[in-house]
Amino acid sequence: MKRPKITVIGSINMDLITKTTTIPKIGETVLGQSFHTIPGGKGANQAVAAARLGADITLIGCVGNDEFGKTLKEHLLNEHINTTYINSVEDTSTGIASITVANGDNSIIVAPGANYQLTVSHVRSLEHVIANSDMILLQLEIPLETVEEAVRLSAKHQVPVILNPAPIQKLSRNLLTQVNYITPNEHEQHELLSLLNSDELEQIRQKCIVTKGASGVAIHQNGAEQLIPSYKVDVVDTTGAGDTFNGALAVALSSGKSLNEACHFANAAASLSVTKLGAQSGMPTLDEVQQFMG
Ligand code: ATP
Repeated sequence: MKRPKITVIGSINMDLITKTTTIPKIGETVLGQSFHTIPGGKGANQAVAAARLGADITLIGCVGNDEFGKTLKEHLLNEHINTTYINSVEDTSTGIASITVANGDNSIIVAPGANYQLTVSHVRSLEHVIANSDMILLQLEIPLETVEEAVRLSAKHQVPVILNPAPIQKLSRNLLTQVNYITPNEHEQHELLSLLNSDELEQIRQKCIVTKGASGVAIHQNGAEQLIPSYKVDVVDTTGAGDTFNGALAVALSSGKSLNEACHFANAAASLSVTKLGAQSGMPTLDEVQQFMG
């Protein structure tokens, strides 16, 4: 398999996870049992997934000029990701997700911080990086106009784009028409397609690769839906399954695999990821996926 060059343009967060027995009500203070800081953000997660699977990854993004920003950049470097185009911005904190977990329930605050400083002009100044890529991988945790500019530049240089429309928001027809693959989960697909008229629906549906949790993934070919089943595994933690799927899909498609083969490969990587705890910590290597697929 040739080593593809993939550029991920997206978010970089530090997840701050507190485990407790009860989620505090307004005005209440409760004692936590443990606290962990874990690298996250859909952009960084998908970059790590693809790098572990052997691709040459560049991540374009922003962190704050603070301790979390430094730690996250070092962490991404250790994962063999090119961090040259991650800007450290002043006067804004690194993006964080503050997650409280209690008896299987959780409550989450996301403060995007520096991720929202990833501007149109930043991406425009990196047109050469986009032009030299085999694939661009995008999500929606950075400003929408930046995503739109990245898609426009990719189309200009005929570099294929995978858009993972998460968290889901209203997207222009222009954007949906220009991207090559769209990877919603079932809920996101519903939201995405509900805004389109019937002609557009057919056109956009052809590009959708819909992840369906344990069932696998649905694609549309020759007007019919085809389910590519996932693998049966002992589930430990499904956090990051979607991110692993997207990273793996980008690696497989940009290595020249067919859509069908790429979905099998991405299913294998994502199902392996749910057998381990954590988003990035559960992401498999290429050897592990190849052994698992037999
Ligand atoms: P998340 O937000 O938890 O990262 P998601 O909602 O974006 O996930 P899902 O459709 O739940 O995405 O899962 C993505 C892929 O992960 C699936 O298409 C499948 O390949 C794999 N997967 C998820 N859950 C399981 C499971 N229980 N068993 C096997 N594979 C799974």
